[in-house]
Amino acid sequence: MAVSPLALDPMSPLIPSTPRDPDGRYRYRHYIDGVSCDPESGAWFETSDPVTGENWAHVPRGSVADVERAVKAAHTAFSGGPWPALSASERGALMRRLGDLIAENAPWLARVEMRDNGKLMAELSMQMRYMANYYYYYGGLADKIEGTVIPTDKPGVFNYTRPEPIGVVACIMPWNSPLPLTSLKLAPALAAGCTVVLKPSEFTSASLLEFVKLVEAAGFPKGVVNVVAGYGAEVGDALVSHPLVERIAFTGGPEAGRMIAEKAARHMKRVTLELGGKSPNIIFDDADLDQAIKGAVAGIFAASGQTCVAGSRLLVQESIHDEVVERLKAFIADVRFGHPADPATQIAPISTRPQLDKIKSYVAIAQAEGARLVAGGEPASVEGYPNGLFYKPTIFVDVQNSMRIAQEEVFGPVLSIIRFTDEDDAVRIANDTRFGLAAGIWTQSMRRALTMANRVRAGTVWVNNYRSTSTTSPFGGFRMSGVGREGGIAGIREYMETKSVWISTATDIPNPFIRR
Ligand code: NAD
Repeated sequence: MAVSPLALDPMSPLIPSTPRDPDGRYRYRHYIDGVSCDPESGAWFETSDPVTGENWAHVPRGSVADVERAVKAAHTAFSGGPWPALSASERGALMRRLGDLIAENAPWLARVEMRDNGKLMAELSMQMRYMANYYYYYGGLADKIEGTVIPTDKPGVFNYTRPEPIGVVACIMPWNSPLPLTSLKLAPALAAGCTVVLKPSEFTSASLLEFVKLVEAAGFPKGVVNVVAGYGAEVGDALVSHPLVERIAFTGGPEAGRMIAEKAARHMKRVTLELGGKSPNIIFDDADLDQAIKGAVAGIFAASGQTCVAGSRLLVQESIHDEVVERLKAFIADVRFGHPADPATQIAPISTRPQLDKIKSYVAIAQAEGARLVAGGEPASVEGYPNGLFYKPTIFVDVQNSMRIAQEEVFGPVLSIIRFTDEDDAVRIANDTRFGLAAGIWTQSMRRALTMANRVRAGTVWVNNYRSTSTTSPFGGFRMSGVGREGGIAGIREYMETKSVWISTATDIPNPFIRR
């Protein structure tokens, strides 16, 4: 059933709205040095609604010139003026004000995000409300990052450390969870005292260009937060290459991540890379199967599998393999597709057309490799949305871990089921991947849970649950899944340098030719 378009209009904000063109589409602008501004190129591109296919907004196409202005503004704001003059406690207070504004405006942010990436409103409304916590948590942490006095073994000197903000940070985001992934970077960077240039995905720029109005309303000084929209090869690349950018905080695919790491290394820039995964979700024969089935569904079919932590390899112990396959098939047999705003909808569309094409190509690859399709494997047609990018939950069995479908990230609702015999076999298969982002373990044995949590190589391990995260807990990947951590106290350290200060307490410098 089609939902009334009026109910979907994203623009009934509590603060002034974005202007519309005569064609009814919203026209967005960059946000640089405290003002909304047109792109230097004079060019915009379209953003579309994945449910209706309608182009609903014009997004500014950023260029090197826009990046230059934004980075200069961020560098100026970092180097002098009101921002560095604020105490850490005052920065924290500003951030908490931003958190309050996010909480108040969460429904509106959720509607804009849904319109751009098609995620379920039921999930988005929780995510957007929760997002305020990033600013409360890191705002609270801002004045609690302490240096240390070092008890050195050298006489006549006093040595202490001072954590300092790293400088201008460029944050580059993907399309699957634009605002929460921005906040995982922006909140600790601001708490540390950095200034920031944000680049949203070219597929989902609108929510960030709306969000930044809240940053302005909270009272952050100009230049502290800037947004330049545009393409990866243009805006993203210019940010990574810019000499005044000290750190790149990137979330996205492994290919772009590798290119960014290589380029950043040339300029000796710090990087945080949150990349993809091929996470194993492991069901043992002693698991509570009702819960494990829900965990498998949450792992791969929630958000149509468009999550970095997707449990895309389901490792199932041999004795329960057939039962798990049948129960999963039954669970997804009558899932409800529909508009993401409809509370009854369980499966929303794929966010972008290129992503839908990628899913189709991997399904063909899996079949050519000899994996056996037992569910889905094709787009879903949904009444009322002929142009919607819907795809059916898809299950392959008889998957060998060496197949591309088990080694490469699909980022869609495609599950590969792989059999295992015992714990050693499960560990061998789970770790036989270039990734290491997350893993799930389903067992009722405490011994097995602890042993497996130790042996599986992944940045996050969930036992008898899947996809839990918190602003207070570090998140990141082993191996090709990334570099660095976001979230928790570890998250703020990524935006700081440690300075070691030595003060002489001696009255004389002895022989200056000898190092003491
Ligand atoms: P992507 O790599 O195509 O793009 C991500 C961002 O990088 C976009 O803003 C894009 O414009 C920019 N970009 C692309 N090429 C660039 C370049 N050469 N230089 C600078 N910037 C460049 O990823 P995507 O398709 O938007 O997102 C999906 C990917 O993100 C998946 O692989 C997924 O696993 C990953 N992801 C990871 C996490 C995590 O926390 N580990 C979370 C969400 C998504």
